[in-house]
Amino acid sequence: MYDVKQNLREVKSRLPEGVRLVAISKYHPAEYIMAAYEKGHRIFGESHEQELRQKVENLPNDIEWHFIGHLQTNKVKYIAPYISMIEAVDSLKLLKEINKQAARNNRVIKVLLELHIAEEETKYGLMLDACRQLLDDGEWRALENVQICGLMMMASYVEDVEQIRSEMMLAANFFDEVKQKYFPDDPMFCERSWGMSHDYQIAVECRSTMVRVGTVIFGPRIY
Ligand SMILES: *Cc1c(COP(=O)(O)O)cnc(C)c1O
Repeated sequence: MYDVKQNLREVKSRLPEGVRLVAISKYHPAEYIMAAYEKGHRIFGESHEQELRQKVENLPNDIEWHFIGHLQTNKVKYIAPYISMIEAVDSLKLLKEINKQAARNNRVIKVLLELHIAEEETKYGLMLDACRQLLDDGEWRALENVQICGLMMMASYVEDVEQIRSEMMLAANFFDEVKQKYFPDDPMFCERSWGMSHDYQIAVECRSTMVRVGTVIFGPRIY
């Protein structure tokens, strides 16, 4: 096993106060999660519904699970009873389904809107204009069982630090726009989820409040 406890300590030591760590445990076994849990860590992120379900059944129930992957609407019902946050919402359709399933479970589910800013074409997420449109449309305001807590994005997977920085700053500035225009009186809209293993230190400089780090804590994933 990778020295999960040591790695976790190192990553946490690099995060300023106010930046939370979501430890991305996808494809890693429950023992790895328990090693971090024993060090007091409670927030973990997964991207596949079935894998997550198995982990939830076998791990302590005070873990806060974040769903970080692309979520199909037909899978929402499975995670709605327990998920703490759904980070990658990129359509009104998905938002409405989360609302419906949250209502069935008598809960309010926290979500982030995922932005598409990176150059890579395969990535999911809302283009900035599509995000504006979704928020302008206003239907989300009637969804009482979802709480939009902020924005999430992935920067391009490149070596060029300046490119990563400019994408993250674009997201940070867009956050300010959205906050001012749609959520001025909502203290719950406060999260900026960006930064992964290779760029979380840049993300911290670009006003991230939540980094999603897997590999440097748990080691390479075996798919
Ligand atoms: C896998 C994943 C991460 C973590 O990536 P690492 O490079 O292992 O830190 C972060 N965010 C999302 C959306 C992911 O799918």
